[in-house]
Amino acid sequence: MIDDLQFGKRNKKGDWKPNEAIALPPMANAKRKMNLGGWLLGFIWPWNLMTVGLTALLWFFVIPPIDVMQTLSFDWIATLFAVNWIALFLWLGSWELVLYRKRSQERRFKYNNAFPSEKPADYFWFKDQNIDNFIRSMFISVPIMVAMEVFALWMFANGWGAISFATEQPILFVLLLIFIPILHEAYFFFAHWFLHWEPFYKWCHAVHHNSINPSPWTSMSNHPLEMFLQFLPAVIWIPLSPFLVLYHFNTVAFSSVLGHIGFEKIELGKEKTWDSHAYPHYLHHKHFDVNYCDDGYLPWDKWFGTWHDGTKEGEQLMQERFKAKVARKNKRAA
Ligand SMILES: [Zn+2]
Ligand SMILES: [Zn+2]
Repeated sequence: MIDDLQFGKRNKKGDWKPNEAIALPPMANAKRKMNLGGWLLGFIWPWNLMTVGLTALLWFFVIPPIDVMQTLSFDWIATLFAVNWIALFLWLGSWELVLYRKRSQERRFKYNNAFPSEKPADYFWFKDQNIDNFIRSMFISVPIMVAMEVFALWMFANGWGAISFATEQPILFVLLLIFIPILHEAYFFFAHWFLHWEPFYKWCHAVHHNSINPSPWTSMSNHPLEMFLQFLPAVIWIPLSPFLVLYHFNTVAFSSVLGHIGFEKIELGKEKTWDSHAYPHYLHHKHFDVNYCDDGYLPWDKWFGTWHDGTKEGEQLMQERFKAKVARKNKRAA
């Protein structure tokens, strides 16, 4: 068994936090020599390459020929829905099963000492975070995703998109595969910041933030409008390639779990661990107005002054920012 107190400390409530500040990508510090190769490798492997692989499986084994997609028929739409639903159920559900149901590593490296099932609350459907988040993720967000995918594929099949972009422009195609997660990251940062704007927050994004202690089922537990906004940029690829469209959808959907794992390190056997990098987004759920980024490939929060690195200094910076915000609000009201 690995001693998590070698890597962090636990407060009176039992919440664990890492000793070290959260590391930022190399471009956050202009003075430091940038290890671009290392960054690129971490960027490509494992998640983005796995997402390309997953999209390829979808493309070659599930997506029907173009003439079939020209009409909106039940068969191919139902198949696409079932495949997406099962894939996301298995992906989110596996994390949930191992860490939250079987509790394979109990509370070791767990940021929040409590498991969501131990904290019923009135603002969740059926007063249960797990049921609420599961229904919202799987029965609202996944259908929205598939409906948008169907629309994009139908548009493509009816002459709105190019058929052979990948074979005619292979280099550009690969560059776009690299660009899409970067675009998603930037878009997510600004859209997320916007969703925290008070008039929107209350009736839209608050749905996601009901889960102060997020778990894998929280990943896609969003208001339908937020889900729509998150997926919306994927449709810009319709004129170029339906593969890029699907890849963009998968990037949004499958990467969403990474910030909601709730554990700093995942134990792989008795001695090895894997770093989840979930702490920035955990802090977002805890403090709301910090760390708007999704995957952290680029230091958007650092650049825009909303970064919390998990240290006392990070906490202080955040408190100062909150105070300044309140002062600005009071000044406006006066
Ligand atoms: Zn979240
Ligand atoms: Zn938020």
